[in-house]
Amino acid sequence: MSDCLFCKIRDGQIPAAVTFRDEDVLAFKDISPKAPFHQLVIPIRHLASLATATTEDTALLGKLMLVGARLARESGQAEGGFRVVMNAGADAGQSVLHVHLHVLAGRVLAWPPG
Ligand code: 5GP
Ligand code: ZN
Repeated sequence: MSDCLFCKIRDGQIPAAVTFRDEDVLAFKDISPKAPFHQLVIPIRHLASLATATTEDTALLGKLMLVGARLARESGQAEGGFRVVMNAGADAGQSVLHVHLHVLAGRVLAWPPG
C-alpha cells in the first residue's frame, strides 16, 4: 500500500534498523522502544490487522511468532523472558495499519498491560 508506513520501510523508502529479512517477513528495531529490546516483525505482504486476517494468513502469522522468538533467543533474551504483543484495532493501541508483532524484553514486564 502506497501510504503505509511499514510498506515504506519494507521498500526502503523510510530507513529502519533491520535485523532480519526473508521472502515472508521483515524485522526491525522499534523507533520508540518500550523496553531495552523492542523489535517489530511484519509480513512483507501488506496485511492491515489481525482483526481482518483469514485462514490464508495462518502460516504467515505463525512465522511472525517464530521469527520473533528466534530474534529474542539470538539476542540472549530468551532465558530472562520476552513478550510478543500484537495490537489489533484502535482501543488496543494499533497505530500502524500493517500487521506487526512487538517483541519486548530486557526488563521485567508488568502484567496485565495497561
Ligand atoms: P502499534 O502502536 O501500532 O501497536 O505499534 C506501532 C509501533 O511502530 C510503535 O511501537 C512505534 O514506536 C513504531 N513506529 C512508528 N513509526 C515508526 C518508524 O518510522 N520506524 C520504526 N522503526 N518504528 C516506528
Ligand atoms: Zn503496509
